[in-house]
Amino acid sequence: MIDSYGFLKLTIDSLSEQIVVMDSTGLIRFVNQAWVDFGLENGCMTPVGWDGVNYLRVCEAAAATGDGFGVSALHGIRRLMADGCGTFTLEYPCHGPNVFRWFMMTVKHFKHLDENFYLVTHRDITKRKQAEEAVSQLARLDGLTNIPNRRAFNDFLDSEWSRSIRQGQPLSLALIDIDHFKLVNDTYGHQRGDECLERVAEVLRAHRKRPSDFFARYGGEEFVYVFGGSTSEDVHLVVQQLLSGIRELALPNVKSPVGRFVTASAGLATLYPKAGWKPNALIEAADALLYEAKSLGRNQLAWRAANHPHAETPPKANLPIDARP
Ligand code: GH3
Ligand code: MG
Ligand code: MG
Repeated sequence: MIDSYGFLKLTIDSLSEQIVVMDSTGLIRFVNQAWVDFGLENGCMTPVGWDGVNYLRVCEAAAATGDGFGVSALHGIRRLMADGCGTFTLEYPCHGPNVFRWFMMTVKHFKHLDENFYLVTHRDITKRKQAEEAVSQLARLDGLTNIPNRRAFNDFLDSEWSRSIRQGQPLSLALIDIDHFKLVNDTYGHQRGDECLERVAEVLRAHRKRPSDFFARYGGEEFVYVFGGSTSEDVHLVVQQLLSGIRELALPNVKSPVGRFVTASAGLATLYPKAGWKPNALIEAADALLYEAKSLGRNQLAWRAANHPHAETPPKANLPIDARP
């Protein structure tokens, strides 16, 4: 009884993993109950079920839409079929309209009566992905202010830099530094200093205009704001508003030579990034302008217009501020 087809089928149908077996043309030759149930729940069943469905064609259709996971699945399975041995695995998202879901696909080759078959299993790994996601989110948030930290900023800048190169778009970056912050700590204590940083972070959050804008705590009492697809001319008023927002918090800093309340200075630079340049060029340009703003008396913004879109080298970060057009 144990080695009967019925017993084995019941065993395979009791698995929570979705199982499908295809032949070397991609034609589906067997599915288990979990596969059928998933198809029914998600409206992927044809009226005649899985009979006659070609798994490779389904992957090809996904790849043709430009879905990177569809492309990876197709290439991985084709390579496995060409090699005639081994295992292929792929973790891929399969989100529904209101549900976050990840699966792991494993494809294994086996032979039966001289015919090649490929066993595909799909295992739900959503719980693990959720846990990984939560850890990675935490690692990217600043512990004090709860806004993105320097690590998140570095990742964002790298990807935004590449995108700007591809699309020939400008990228603007503002470094914002609280003026005489040491005096806040010295006068009111470190705890009040911390509260001040939290309030400034709230101002940054409140002033975010577009989802593509990004801000982070750069370190200490310094913050960074990145504006994709924008020039300094486009966003200098936004940065001015940020500085006003910080002033309007009216957080006391009575010993500051600038005034009775906490103020901040900012340097705003723009580049049309080019292949071969490093994102650091933009940070250095903004930092040089921040230094200018500090030397000119603090509590102000120093900004410079973008390099020419077709310039071959990044502009020198230490150009005097009045060199701006
Ligand atoms: P400047 O206008 O030139 O920027 O002067 P400043 O006093 O703001 O700059 P300085 O670099 O001399 O001092 C920065 C201070 O920020 C010193 C450091 O103790 C304080 N600081 C850095 N991180 C934190 C933090 O997380 N909490 C608090 N309370 N203070 C911090
Ligand atoms: Mg400072
Ligand atoms: Mg500083």
